[in-house]
Amino acid sequence: LGDVLGVKDEQALSSHENGRFKDEPATREEIDRVRKSLPAYTVKANLVQTIQENQVTIVIGETGSGKTTQLPQYLFDGGFCSDGKLIACTQPRRVAAMSVAKRVASEMGVKLGEEVGYSIRFEDETSDKTLIKFMTDGILLREALLDPTLDRYSCIIIDEAHERSLNTEVMLGLLKRLLAQRRDLKVVVTSATMNAARFANFFGNAPQFNIPGRTFPVQLIYSKYPVEDYVEAAVMQAVRIHASTEANSGDILIFMTGQEDVEVTAEVIKERLTDIYAKSKGIARFEEIDDVKIFTVYSALPGDIQNEIFHSLSGNKRKIVVATNIAETSLTIDGVRHVIDCGYSKLKVYNPRIGLDSLIVSPISLANANQRSGRAGRTAPGTAYRLYTEETAFEDMYAQAIPEIQRTNLSNTVLLLKSLGVDEVAKFPFVDPPPIQTLLASLNELFFIGALDKGGNLTALGNEMAKFPLQPSLCKTLLSSAQHGCSEEMVTIVSMLSVPQIFHRPKERQKESDAARSRFFVPESDHLTLLNVYSQWKSSRYSHRWCTKHFINFKSLQRAREIRGQLIKIMKKNHITLVSTGTDWDTIRKCICSGYAHQAARVAGLGKYISLRTGMELQLHPTSALYGLGDLPPYVVYNELLMTTKEYICCVTSVDPFWLMEYGTLLYDIKKVNIADLVRHPIEYSAADEGPKDEERDNEINRKLRAL
Ligand code: ADP
Ligand code: MG
Repeated sequence: LGDVLGVKDEQALSSHENGRFKDEPATREEIDRVRKSLPAYTVKANLVQTIQENQVTIVIGETGSGKTTQLPQYLFDGGFCSDGKLIACTQPRRVAAMSVAKRVASEMGVKLGEEVGYSIRFEDETSDKTLIKFMTDGILLREALLDPTLDRYSCIIIDEAHERSLNTEVMLGLLKRLLAQRRDLKVVVTSATMNAARFANFFGNAPQFNIPGRTFPVQLIYSKYPVEDYVEAAVMQAVRIHASTEANSGDILIFMTGQEDVEVTAEVIKERLTDIYAKSKGIARFEEIDDVKIFTVYSALPGDIQNEIFHSLSGNKRKIVVATNIAETSLTIDGVRHVIDCGYSKLKVYNPRIGLDSLIVSPISLANANQRSGRAGRTAPGTAYRLYTEETAFEDMYAQAIPEIQRTNLSNTVLLLKSLGVDEVAKFPFVDPPPIQTLLASLNELFFIGALDKGGNLTALGNEMAKFPLQPSLCKTLLSSAQHGCSEEMVTIVSMLSVPQIFHRPKERQKESDAARSRFFVPESDHLTLLNVYSQWKSSRYSHRWCTKHFINFKSLQRAREIRGQLIKIMKKNHITLVSTGTDWDTIRKCICSGYAHQAARVAGLGKYISLRTGMELQLHPTSALYGLGDLPPYVVYNELLMTTKEYICCVTSVDPFWLMEYGTLLYDIKKVNIADLVRHPIEYSAADEGPKDEERDNEINRKLRAL
């Protein structure tokens, strides 16, 4: 029982403090003083009036001017909720939705989840009382599925529109259509200073309301030579700033690409400072650095953002925040006067020709670079260190970032649009329409997995799939698991796939942690390995201690458990029964194959596979359990393709080639699949353009088939 209680304690400590902040000096006067000092406050009356008088308003303001935290409150005060309707405010990032909801609840002096709440995937912190609702743009899209007119809302704020997230873009298109139908609905699109005119045009010259800026000059310092290792360069720069200035002369914000870089950078800075301090004091080891506190910010687990990062530290102490591009616009950290920008971010990039999405570290755009630098000048003049040369900035960087819709897989989006009754997805009003090949590839994929029929109409399966907040393939696997008699196990696997970093691999104990990981291996399948981890954790009664002992990330498992609960609720609502297959794990592999037959590969050498669909060479990821088999299994399906130095397939399960023939009939069959058949109406592209490539692909598949 102690362990079970342990879980609860940990939960209470980590994220859900329901509007209570231990580290917040929240007197009413202080809160009011801060609110009144924000640029938005000076234009409050005017802003509310403009929104009242127009159906759509574009609100433009520097980051930190109060758009996200203040605007919903102004509208609330302005009577937008008087008839019981809600104000929605969407965020592209889960972390932001949660953190601003907390902030606004505490500013209004209410309990989080009551008048002010938030809703993100797998987590709903709202109630009947909720009037201001922060949510991810994806959640609002899902709500539109159930209620196409979004009748509950009097006003919808599409926040952070300049980010051009895929869901935001789809939402804007839906709203454009909805506005004619709901004359009473107010739409506010907020944007940092970039991109605003585009939104105004999209909504037929909607008024643009500018919140006057108040920023201080930022000196830009470029690297003289191209930087080879940006982590090392960032560490050096941070240490240099800290060594040469007073600790209370401004905090440091470092932009890195992703979780891994962020963690390594933070760790190395700490090491470096500890060494320097020890040397300067002439001692061998220095334990406690007392004038710096290092924070990391990335979006893996929203609950992990410490409230402390928003405040300046008391005493002669400096904050060093290492963050991903989350800190560019969605979170404002006060007190920053030094920015270090590595010049890169992680982007999801889709290649429709080979049909895969991959996270690629890519150079940021000039607009992003300026946004990053600007963070140094919010409260006083500052300095931005750019870890790239001036020539790179002006010759190699794009002026603006490429919107997500132009570069990612659209299968989920297309499925959603189809279930919203948008038949001709190519004619949907996108701010920037996606490339037609990407749309076709998505239609293709949905057809392969049976979500669409040949005419491009939603099938019964597709309809079911749209009800789950999951990737189409994962969703299909889960849906077919009841028929396979293994839904109990599959819902666990799907939940485990939905959380980051199950296995903990600390730098200094890699060998030990690898050994610990290998004890969970089920050599036929990484999916089953995940199931194995969860089952053993369950047997330990969800123990924290058990996780630590086995190098397992407790928080990730806890999150998987929550997600599992959520998914089971959705399954019950949709009459999908929970059945267990017991120890017959072949059934589970077969079920996985049913959802992933389009991502299959055949062994081609040591650690090497060849994609059955594209003929591309793939590498089995070094962490895979399949290496435990001796000989690699001849046929596999994979969950994910990771493109780094090589094309790695991750989370892989060995399958029987006959299953592939059974579930991948359309792919691994001599019958040709004509992509153009999938599009219901002829659209403005030339089908002939696609011809030869298609034939090439079909020949390739046929060749593979013969090899089968
Ligand atoms: P914008 O949306 O225009 O970028 P915000 O409304 O997010 O601006 O921020 C306004 C102010 O509120 C900033 O000074 C920011 O530091 C502060 N703030 C936002 N979130 C928090 C929080 N969780 N805790 C403390 N201060 C916060
Ligand atoms: Mg904001």
